[in-house]
Parts: sequence; structure tokens; C-alpha cells
Amino acid sequence: MKIGIVGGGQLARMLALAGIPLGLRFVFLDPAQDACAAELGEHLCGDYDDQALLARMAQMCDVVTYEFENVPESSIEFLSERVPVFPDARALATARDRLNEKSLFRELDIDTVPFVTVDSLADLQNAVKVTGLPAVLKTRTLGYDGKGQAVLRTEGDIETAWKELGGVPLILEGFAEFRREVSIIAVRGRDGEERFYPLAENIHRDGILHISRSRPHDALQAQAQEYAKRLLEKLDYVGVMALELFDSGDRLLANEMAPRVHNSGHWSIEGCVCSQFENHIRAVAGLPLGSTEATGHAAMVNFIGAMPQREKVLACPGVYLHDYGKSPRPGRKVGHATVVSQEEVTLPSCLQQEN
Ligand code: AMP
Repeated sequence: MKIGIVGGGQLARMLALAGIPLGLRFVFLDPAQDACAAELGEHLCGDYDDQALLARMAQMCDVVTYEFENVPESSIEFLSERVPVFPDARALATARDRLNEKSLFRELDIDTVPFVTVDSLADLQNAVKVTGLPAVLKTRTLGYDGKGQAVLRTEGDIETAWKELGGVPLILEGFAEFRREVSIIAVRGRDGEERFYPLAENIHRDGILHISRSRPHDALQAQAQEYAKRLLEKLDYVGVMALELFDSGDRLLANEMAPRVHNSGHWSIEGCVCSQFENHIRAVAGLPLGSTEATGHAAMVNFIGAMPQREKVLACPGVYLHDYGKSPRPGRKVGHATVVSQEEVTLPSCLQQEN
């Protein structure tokens, strides 16, 4: 069986690394000559909306998935007319637009911050009356790793934020006073079977995920799982979904969902019986899902910009190193390392120093 992946970055690479041992083969569509997944399958090198390449992918593959939510809608439509695509166009349209996803949270009684759609300065001025201050102004689409957002603390920030972000569809959100940020990875198969991973607790640095720790016995697991379940079932979802949440002390507030494998689930490669990558592949391929049970406590550290010295990390006992094979660049995710332990993980010095 051949699986097509739109995108050839590290997520596609780790999907292929999980699927190849199952006897599956991969085709990637990515405009970058040096796409880091390319060495693990066939690389269709071209734009995400190149119809000749999309048609080729559809013809070569039994099923298609994607590694990022900003795939052009027209490409997903084009592919879907020719080959099964999971998660489907509806799931993608919901997750790629913050207004759509938050409206769905509201419809499904999933707690979230107050939010108002903003298309003009006047809208923004009115929206602030609903959310109060502080508030966070975000682009509805194409935002990632904290990009496309501005925090409004005083009335004086309204115009500045509008000047910075205005001109594209926006959403204003109330500011969540959270104790910690958590996420849950869920998976649903083509037959409707569902599995949920243990919660992860996430620490960001400069808007980018820095450390993710698994929380195998978290008191909020059931609540997070229930939210994810409502989303999976409402969307008749197939594949892995990530739901990011704020723990505000007395309740969980959903922030955003990702229709794909997620950085806060990388620890599952070594920290669970079956990783998020393998389960996504199993789900889209129509295979039975694997166990999401934790094998211990796990912690993952991202390498941003450049890899640490390989010798130094590998000299640290119990550290699993993942080098994505990408060239270094400021702000770029180039690799990660995971530690698994039977107790709460204390990060070894080789990982603390480098980050
Ligand atoms: P996002 O792109 O929505 O994941 O936001 C990036 C980061 O900004 C989050 O991980 C939070 O740390 C912070 N953030 C986003 N939205 C809010 C909010 N409504 N209230 C407080 N902090 C937020």
C-alpha cells in the first residue's frame, strides 16, 4: 500500500519512519528540493497546488494525508475527487480557521475563551467590549508558533494591533489566565475506533514549543478526552488530531485543534506502545489502531535553529535523539530528543545546556 503525504517536512518524515516497518510505502509532495522526508520515499517536487503532481500523487497512492493545515483547499478538493484523503476536507476547513474551530467548540459545549470575529477597526473596538482586556488578536488563518498575534493590554493597544494585523480576517480572544498549557492527541480509525494518548504538558519559548512532558495520570485526562471525543465524532474524523488546551485551574479551555500529528506528541515515539505517527498511518490506511498506553513518563525537548553536538547527546544515557536532517536556520525546528523514565523525568544536563 502506498500513502501520499502533502508536505515533506519532519512530520512527514516521522510518519514514513513509522509506516515503513509496517510494509507501507510513501510519496511526498513538497516544493523544497531538500525536503527532509524525501529520502524515505518518492518525492514529487513542486508546489502544493501543482495539478499535474497532485494528479500523479492520486494515481500512485491508495490514500493521501497531509502534514500541515495550510494545504490549499483546492488541492484537497482536487485530490479528494480522485483518492481517499484523511482527515477530510471538512476537518481541515474547521481546523485551519480559528473562527471555525472556536465556533465548533462552542457548538459542542467545549469550554473556550470568549471570542469575536474582527474585520475592521470598528469591529475590534466593539470586540474589546465583549472580551475585556487583556485580549489576544489573531489572524484567523495561517498563524503558527505564535505568529500572526498581538496581545492587547490597554485601550491604547487597539490601534497598534489593528495596524499590525489588520487587512486579513481576524479574531479577538479573551486572555486566558492559565496555570499550564496541555494538549491531548486523539486518533480515530476509518471504522470509528478511537484511542486517546495521555495528556502532555507543554512549555513554549519565544512562541515555539520547547518542552513537552507526558502526564500519564493527570486529573484532567477525562475532561480533555471527552472534548477530543466530541470533536472526533462530530467531524467523523479519520487520523490523528491534536487539541491544545489551557488549564485555567478550575476548568480546561480549548485553544486550538490541529488536524494532524503534532509536536506535543513526539514523545509518544518512545513513550507509548504505539506512537502518534504509527497510529495516524494505521488510521488513514484503514488498519487496526495500536495501543496508546504510556510506557513510562516521557519528556521531549525541541532543538530549534541548530542541532546540539550528536556525541554529547548520545553520551547521555537513556536519551533518544531525532535529527530531522534539516539545514540550520534561526527559529527552525531541526530535531528533538526524548527521555523516558519510570518516574517523573529530570532532564539530563546534555539537554538542559543545549536549550
Ligand atoms: P496559538 O497560536 O493559539 O497556539 O497561541 C500561541 C501561544 O500564545 C499559546 O501557546 C499561548 O501561550 C498564547 N495564547 C494564545 N491564545 C491565548 C489566549 N487567548 N490567552 C492567553 N494566552 C494565549
